[in-house]
Amino acid sequence: MLDRPHPTPAAPTNDPFALAKALSGHHFIGGRFVPALSGKTFAVVNPATGEEIGRAAEGDTADVAAAVAEADRAQKEWARLPARKRGALVYQCAQVLKEHTEELARLIALETGKALRTESRVEANVVADIFEFFGGLGGELKGESVPFAPNVLSVTVREPLGVVGAIIPWNVPMLLMALKVAPALVAGNAVVVKSAEEAPLAVLRICELLSRVLPAGVFNILSGFGPECGAPLVEHPKVRKVTFTGSVEVGKIVAKAAGEKLVPVTLELGGKSPMIVFADCDFDKTVAGALTSMRFTRQGQSCTAASRIYVERPIFDRFVAAMAEKVDAMVMGDPLDEKTDIGTIISPGQFAKVKTFIEEGKATKGATGRACSAMPKDPALKKGLFIQPHIFTGLSNDSRLVQEEIFGPVTCIFPFDDAESVLAAANDSEYGLAASVWTNNLRVGLDLAHRLEAGLVQINQNLVVQANLSYGGVKSSGLGKEASLEAMNEHFTHKKTIMVNYAG
Ligand code: ADP
Ligand code: MG
Repeated sequence: MLDRPHPTPAAPTNDPFALAKALSGHHFIGGRFVPALSGKTFAVVNPATGEEIGRAAEGDTADVAAAVAEADRAQKEWARLPARKRGALVYQCAQVLKEHTEELARLIALETGKALRTESRVEANVVADIFEFFGGLGGELKGESVPFAPNVLSVTVREPLGVVGAIIPWNVPMLLMALKVAPALVAGNAVVVKSAEEAPLAVLRICELLSRVLPAGVFNILSGFGPECGAPLVEHPKVRKVTFTGSVEVGKIVAKAAGEKLVPVTLELGGKSPMIVFADCDFDKTVAGALTSMRFTRQGQSCTAASRIYVERPIFDRFVAAMAEKVDAMVMGDPLDEKTDIGTIISPGQFAKVKTFIEEGKATKGATGRACSAMPKDPALKKGLFIQPHIFTGLSNDSRLVQEEIFGPVTCIFPFDDAESVLAAANDSEYGLAASVWTNNLRVGLDLAHRLEAGLVQINQNLVVQANLSYGGVKSSGLGKEASLEAMNEHFTHKKTIMVNYAG
């Protein structure tokens, strides 16, 4: 264990308020906590109360330069370690994370407003799982032997790209960071992460925790705002790969900047994922599936949220009623309370945006918006960013609520009459991230699975991203895959061809 000059506790702590304070005001660069070179910080706020829980270092171009320099230095040695040795260290990271899952769950609940029991603990466990999965893949960084000519041995080898710049959003920041950092490291790269301004603390703690295992400088993290800290990271000449999760709008800016330097870019952008329910489905399982698919426990703040639900007409009314009843039974409240199912929206800006969509839906002629669940009564939460889940019916497919990503607890339900028309409606979207089909007729389900424009289609389930399964969208939902062996090999290495002429 390190001789720790750190202000944070070495042992896991279940006091997220104290941990947030201890982490305050730092980046983590070259194996050390450091303040922003400008000395500037910005507030980190608990969205359940509106209170400041800590400060984040406000990074800019100078901090980016310092972090990239450390990463560049560390990467060269890291890449020289045998691949399975790097994997073994990443696997050890998973063990450290497992010791800290409860701590991380509490901290992420505090800074994002995601309920501890239903969301934050799940995320903390998945993070450890992702490190464990990629840790086992060091030996899979394989090339090929290529037939060329007698007496010429031609092989390809996979080499790391160098320094990876990773930019992440706030909705599942620990998980989305793990999907980038773990495979990038196993492949022999060093990483500089720019965290989301709304959720910089739990990811910072992870970076610090993993410094007990990893060589200094292979994993660095900066906090700061997009244009001031994210943009210079993307543009830095020594950053040889960019991986981004966030909005379509910023994804395009990032892709352009990476294009200027001719470096590869992976983009995980938005979604407007359809859920298609046939009358022959297992009704109760599918209603429960609609709640989890819509990620109501995450206030709908998920790229794969089933924000368009198409239900075959004979069961439409019954389905909407059953779903509303179930959402009504969900408890909104303090994210850190074990009883809470649904926490808060992340920020005042997102809160206002979601509210605008809801008002627009309510004002639409012929549409009905049913508000579900009760607002929390606790006076301590009166400034909390709580929004009642809304289920809309009677909207047309071209409504803004149906076409744009709301990133809030709002879903739109439509009746349909046949598979062809529902397929056309489902594919009538700028996005193509995920989709699900619910039916006991696998012939129909599989036919739709093949014809839906999405990177991930599930039948009779709708799980979130899983280690070992490629995840990534088509159309405006992004470029490239994450979470799998393919993701590591295709997106964090390049293939070099080596030819050996051994003719006498
Ligand atoms: P949202 O607004 O929903 O948080 P964004 O796409 O704006 O989604 O943010 C995702 C991440 O991208 C955040 O870490 C943010 O700071 C970062 N970001 C925003 N603008 C830029 C930019 N111009 N260049 C690089 N990163 C950016
Ligand atoms: Mg933004």
